[in-house]
Amino acid sequence: MKGLKRGKFFLGLLNRCGKELCIGWQRLSWLRQMNAPPSLPPPLRGTGVFVASGLRKVYHTGEVEVVALHGVNVALDAGELVVLLGPSGSGKSTLLNILGGLDVATSGELSYKGWALDGADENTLTLFRRNCVGFVFQFYNLIPSLTARENVALITGIANDPMAPEEALAMVGLQARMDHFPSQLSGGEQQRVAIARAIAKRPEVLLCDEPTGALDVTTGITVLEAIERINRELGTLTVIITHNAVMAEMADRVLFLSDGKIVKERRNENRRPASGLEW
Ligand code: ADP
Ligand code: MG
Repeated sequence: MKGLKRGKFFLGLLNRCGKELCIGWQRLSWLRQMNAPPSLPPPLRGTGVFVASGLRKVYHTGEVEVVALHGVNVALDAGELVVLLGPSGSGKSTLLNILGGLDVATSGELSYKGWALDGADENTLTLFRRNCVGFVFQFYNLIPSLTARENVALITGIANDPMAPEEALAMVGLQARMDHFPSQLSGGEQQRVAIARAIAKRPEVLLCDEPTGALDVTTGITVLEAIERINRELGTLTVIITHNAVMAEMADRVLFLSDGKIVKERRNENRRPASGLEW
């Protein structure tokens, strides 16, 4: 009888240890991915890569209060190409910056792969940006004294599991321009270096804020083709901000922003290849 009780006790103990180990492993893998400090993350929420609910952003400049986001609810899924379309001042950059951990919402909830980003400390947001997100902006922000290869290598030097700079540059069609300085490259080529730099760390998410805003149509299309290829070949969830309705045709899903709210959503049955766009 005593032996039976002892057996049950040890079985119970084993079971509990197993569960603790499992939970510990889940937490550990999140921390390892983020290289986060040893504080436990909050519990899982939602199922999209990003799930936002009731996101509000209020800017205060002196006496003036600007409400840039009025309660945004959205879920973005793995591998999607999403175009965020809206007029100037509608809150597109604000939303993108909050998704990418460059800024935080005033209120509302936001999770990345089930883990809360709202309320995350600066250290966690830094690791999130460094490991999980690639950014492309309208202006390329390349270092003029470094070659294309060196500009990309700056980022691969601090990433967890980066591709070689040469591989990233080849993905955007710049294999023949690796040793050129930014001043020796056209605007479109410089933007493609910026894209190679953003994706060389193999981010889960690529966030592009008006990536063709400073380019003529033909050059803009080569940049969009590079982004499209990354989305297709690496399966990177890609968000492109634009106020150009034609670009919406290359998306899986279009979110229309107006006055800080998503007012409409459209799913394209067939994505139009970037090479076929005209404006
Ligand atoms: P979009 O990218 O669609 O042009 P933004 O997200 O940049 O729009 O801006 C939304 C609103 O928030 C605008 O009214 C803008 O002036 C305001 N805004 C954006 N950033 C700031 C800031 N840092 N400080 C104060 N107001 C801001
Ligand atoms: Mg903007």
